[in-house]
Amino acid sequence: MSEHHTPHMLITSGPTRQYLDPVRFISNASSGRMGAAIAQSAIDSGYEVTVISGPVSIAYPDRCRVVNVQTTQEMLEAANSVFPNCDVLVGAAAPSDYMPRAVSNDKLKKTGEPITLHLVETPDIIASLAAKKKSSQIVIGFALETTDHRFQALRKLEEKCCDYIVLNEPTAMNSEDNSVRIFGESGEELLSVAGPKSQIADSILKLCATRV
Ligand code: C5P
Repeated sequence: MSEHHTPHMLITSGPTRQYLDPVRFISNASSGRMGAAIAQSAIDSGYEVTVISGPVSIAYPDRCRVVNVQTTQEMLEAANSVFPNCDVLVGAAAPSDYMPRAVSNDKLKKTGEPITLHLVETPDIIASLAAKKKSSQIVIGFALETTDHRFQALRKLEEKCCDYIVLNEPTAMNSEDNSVRIFGESGEELLSVAGPKSQIADSILKLCATRV
């Protein structure tokens, strides 16, 4: 770490919401706890921290700047404006991967018949940002998998141009603990950690210390 430069970490955290109408949305069970734990470890390690968060009920550490967003597109826009000035990007968010093709201005009325929702993919935040990263920037993605864990994690590492990928499982969602394996750029397993999210976060920060 250079003497004059305070390193800056950008963390995406929590779920995003994609509204169908003014009151209904699709989302997921992310709590934001992993993002909050990483924010705390980063502050403790001397980073300036910006968290871009979807709606969560947890609190982020006082000393980080929090930008609140609702949708995946808003999270991308907010992250896009901060990314050029950050040294490390951690994608701890679980952005909604799909959004309704059309959003109704009025509350959808029940008709007694089943309805069909047409969903289209949202932009991938980490992939969009990492595609234009400078060689000095580190991008860390998460992969939450239910099958072919290592294979899927390594596929995402490559597709999303990450330097590291943190593999975890659905038990991580909304939990105080997590169990992860961290892979590096060439697919090598660097770490395997299980315990409170604060411990996982410390391991991620230690990994950054070897690079920043
Ligand atoms: O493809 P998948 O959602 O499993 O990838 C997980 C990783 O990609 C996480 O780091 C997550 O924050 C990031 N992601 C993203 N934008 C999306 C979907 C996922 O940045 N739309």
